[in-house]
Amino acid sequence: MFTIDDLADRLGGYLPSEEIQQVRRAFYYAEQAHDGQTRRSGEPYVTHPLAVANILANMHMDHQSLMAAMLHDVIEDTGVTRDAVATQFGEAVAGLVDGVSKLTQITFEDKAVAQAENFQKMVMAMSQDIRVIIVKLADRLHNMRTLGALRPDKKRRIARETLEIYARIAGRLGINTIRVELEDLSFQAIHPMRAERIKRAVARARGNRRSTMRQIQDSLQRRLDEDDLIGSVVGRQKHLLSIYRKMRDQRKPFAEIMDVFGFRIITDSVDNSYRILGAVHNLYKPVPGRFKDYIAIPKANGYQSLHTTLFGPSGMPVEVQIRTREMEAMANNGIAAHWLYKAGQTERPIAVGSHARAREWVRGLLEMQRHAGDSLEFIEHVKNDLFPDDVYIFTPKGDIMELPQGATAVDFAYSVHTDIGNSCIACRIDRHLAPLSTPLESGQTLEIITAPGARPNLAWLNFVITAKARSAIRHALKNQQRSEAVQLGRRLLNRALAGFDTSLETLPEGRLTMLLAEIDLNSEDDLLAGIGLGTRLAHATARRLVDTEPREEENERAEFRRLAESNGPIVINGSESMAISFARCCYPLPGDPVIGHLSIGKGIVVHRHDCGNLEELRDDPDKLVSLTWSNQIEQDFPVPLRIEIETRRGLIAELASLVTDADANIERIGIEERDVRLSIVNLTILVKGRIHLARIIKRLRNLNHIGRIVRARH
Ligand code: MN
Repeated sequence: MFTIDDLADRLGGYLPSEEIQQVRRAFYYAEQAHDGQTRRSGEPYVTHPLAVANILANMHMDHQSLMAAMLHDVIEDTGVTRDAVATQFGEAVAGLVDGVSKLTQITFEDKAVAQAENFQKMVMAMSQDIRVIIVKLADRLHNMRTLGALRPDKKRRIARETLEIYARIAGRLGINTIRVELEDLSFQAIHPMRAERIKRAVARARGNRRSTMRQIQDSLQRRLDEDDLIGSVVGRQKHLLSIYRKMRDQRKPFAEIMDVFGFRIITDSVDNSYRILGAVHNLYKPVPGRFKDYIAIPKANGYQSLHTTLFGPSGMPVEVQIRTREMEAMANNGIAAHWLYKAGQTERPIAVGSHARAREWVRGLLEMQRHAGDSLEFIEHVKNDLFPDDVYIFTPKGDIMELPQGATAVDFAYSVHTDIGNSCIACRIDRHLAPLSTPLESGQTLEIITAPGARPNLAWLNFVITAKARSAIRHALKNQQRSEAVQLGRRLLNRALAGFDTSLETLPEGRLTMLLAEIDLNSEDDLLAGIGLGTRLAHATARRLVDTEPREEENERAEFRRLAESNGPIVINGSESMAISFARCCYPLPGDPVIGHLSIGKGIVVHRHDCGNLEELRDDPDKLVSLTWSNQIEQDFPVPLRIEIETRRGLIAELASLVTDADANIERIGIEERDVRLSIVNLTILVKGRIHLARIIKRLRNLNHIGRIVRARH
């Protein structure tokens, strides 16, 4: 059995003895705290934290992470408090243990909204100290290795969560040794039969291929030696899940996937990496279009390497990766390589860049969380972010920008500069005009066309995917709302002034300034914004501007009545962002009969004419305004639906795809279970209007086992 002495021996290879002593102390503390507890296998509980620490030792993590690994379950599973850990082992270790405990309490159930909140908690815990997630990944890895005799359904649940969340985070942080093992263990737990079949096929194929592998490896190595190039050639194996994914996604037969021979060449310097590339291209012809230079342009998780594919003996494809020892350490350990150092070395020269990148990633997540409209939006972003396939775009000057997959020209514009984003009106992709919403692809050259005075468009929020663009657009729109309120205020005030045969432009000099001083406002815009928002009355303001004699203020209601009657119904087109808003009690849609309510501070609030809340408001008829819908409405409107449906797997996915197929978006989705059989789904979707909604409801009714569908009002 693996003991603390074995671990201490291993640590002797890279940690000073005082630090090893502290790790031992943490072990004994944990051993005592978990005394009497056992794992499912019957072993003493402390074997688990010891094994987690050992995983971290293999990655050469620092002593504080190892101590936290030893102690990671004591707060959660024994009576020990965070303070006690802090007193014994210091604040840093206590913080790590606390962070890991918080992560442990989070479970990611089926893909639902709850997941999003958990993600947020997770990001919070990580942002304190990125080592928290590294310890957590090691913990999860050991638990996956020892899934053992759990019930199959429970196994599958844990494996799915591991695959969806933890393996992806490991990948995003570049910790590939852990990612690969998590993926294979999860795959084996979810599809035991398929995994077994692939495993056996791989073993068989390996036997057949051995001599060919040897032959290619020898000729590569010989060529390096002849050219006096430092480098060692090793064979590469694909892991189970990657083979399975290739078979499933690319519909390739097993034989074809195994028909590729993979090698890695590790060398000492960047210069030699490129020299070796030249040498192997000289030995075997390269396959055109397959060369990738991740040394010049590292992947988002910090991965660096040269990739090329060659025509090997008798035309067999040979894939070669070439990189330095440091890049190899990064490729295996990613962010964890930051703590990697050799005994006697005080500097930790490796992967400082990767650490900065990881921090930047977590900071980006936090930013996103602050700006995301709701939890679903946030999780959508994080998921996007966990797919590490970024795209690389060239500026017209040839600079390279890195953007997440799915990014559009607007994302690009904002990543260059906020002002460019705010004023962009069109773009050219590879010199051709293209819509701003087109998702970008690696290698494209993108030119942004701007116009002075242009403003961001609300609709951009539907397709931008980077946090920076999203928050910048929101910010700009907010400013825009004020200027719209000012414009509306100007219109209302001029209309009122027209009743006195004057206008803002023709008022006697100084009249406005005098009024501003009287009512203690700083600027004309403040006054107009107040009118636009309904906090100040246009008619009363107009009267004060024309009458030098102070007179009793006219009744507010009379003014509202005049507004409502004299001008006929006000036409709403949905783009008035602030002066007109839509009630969140009855969610009016274009096509619904509606009525406006003048509400102090909010301007006109649009309700459905039969909204229950209007009953009270009807006591105040002067504040009601008749409204009609414009027939040119661009905006989408939220509408909540309450759907009764028979509980079954994949329910949400089915509803979601039906709604998206009908050109509507989902704003939020939640499930209340009524009983085992029946669920109530609360679904808020974005639609163009009544007719659009009717079409969607009709489609929903065609689903199997659907019960009542009600357009909810609160
Ligand atoms: Mn644990």
